[in-house]
Amino acid sequence: MQKLNILVIGGAGYIGSHIVADLVEEGHSVIVFDNLSSGFKENIPDEVELILGDIKNKSEINEAMKKNINVVFHFAALKAAGDSMIVPEKFADNNISGTLNILGAMVENDVKSIVFSSSAAVYGEPAYLPIDEKHPIVPENYYGYTKICIERNLEWFSKLKNIRYAALRYFNATGYDVKGRVKCKENNPANLSPLVMEVASGMREKLYIYGNDYDTPDGTCIRDYIHVNDLSEAHLLAMDYLLKNDKDLVVNLGTGKGASVLEVINAGAKVTGKTISHEFTARRAGDPSELIASSELARELLGWEAKYSDLENIFRTMEAVYF
Ligand code: NAD
Repeated sequence: MQKLNILVIGGAGYIGSHIVADLVEEGHSVIVFDNLSSGFKENIPDEVELILGDIKNKSEINEAMKKNINVVFHFAALKAAGDSMIVPEKFADNNISGTLNILGAMVENDVKSIVFSSSAAVYGEPAYLPIDEKHPIVPENYYGYTKICIERNLEWFSKLKNIRYAALRYFNATGYDVKGRVKCKENNPANLSPLVMEVASGMREKLYIYGNDYDTPDGTCIRDYIHVNDLSEAHLLAMDYLLKNDKDLVVNLGTGKGASVLEVINAGAKVTGKTISHEFTARRAGDPSELIASSELARELLGWEAKYSDLENIFRTMEAVYF
């Protein structure tokens, strides 16, 4: 296999650090570019160079791109959808302008491949399930808008500048490294499974469930949880796809199966042997009852399939980080 020089932007964060670990194991030469706003130095293996920098700063990202880079992975973003409705200008600056700076630096330094973290948030309220890539794009929050705005720019830079891109639309990323290589847990998590682990490990007294009167078997919302190592495998396959086929790629990454909030809590309780105290409270605005991905296209084009995303396995991989 060809050894590549890979720049992982946002590689100190939750998802990026898992991809960094796999890229290093595959023998690639990896550089991480990160401002550590939500990432951790400790997540980066010793052999990987960390460039402390910010994608909002054109000259910093341009400098990093000069290092003979073959492929860029781009994970750096603000991701709290609720915040994006309060301070959209920050999301515009970080996510959109920051990514345009990355694309500018790629053009200037003749870097031709990028794998981008997009999101199920581009779809908004489901018109049908499971959601495939042909589903209407109607983001319900500004965060989702930043993701589709970047995808549209990637399309243009592909046409105009021959930059090949993979936009990977993740559903609910969860779990920690099956091999225990990533040590730091996320700060202030907003997703369900880390909250379950915070209750299980005594960091938090209880968690709130927003609504138990949805039209689902147990009344709580259903989501598609995808293990971070499954995401990582898809990233490596997407990189190979770009390099071998010289074609762009836009795919969902999910399991095609949903789990309700109560099912997730029960799995966490079973694996940890702890009681997960919870309280039902009012629904949140804009929470669809069910979100499930069709990942048929990823299977067809990449030969990818989720292997680690069983709920109990997800919690087993989280135990080592929380206890
Ligand atoms: P994270 O916050 O753990 O990681 C983001 C990383 O980017 C951090 O290390 C942070 O320090 C860095 N960063 C942020 N802004 C930066 C900037 N201006 N300059 C340089 N570095 C910067 O988040 P994550 O969960 O690992 O998410 C990674 C990507 O995946 C994001 O683009 C997110 O929108 C997307 N995504 C995440 C999920 C999920 O469930 N976690 C779902 C869909 C999409």
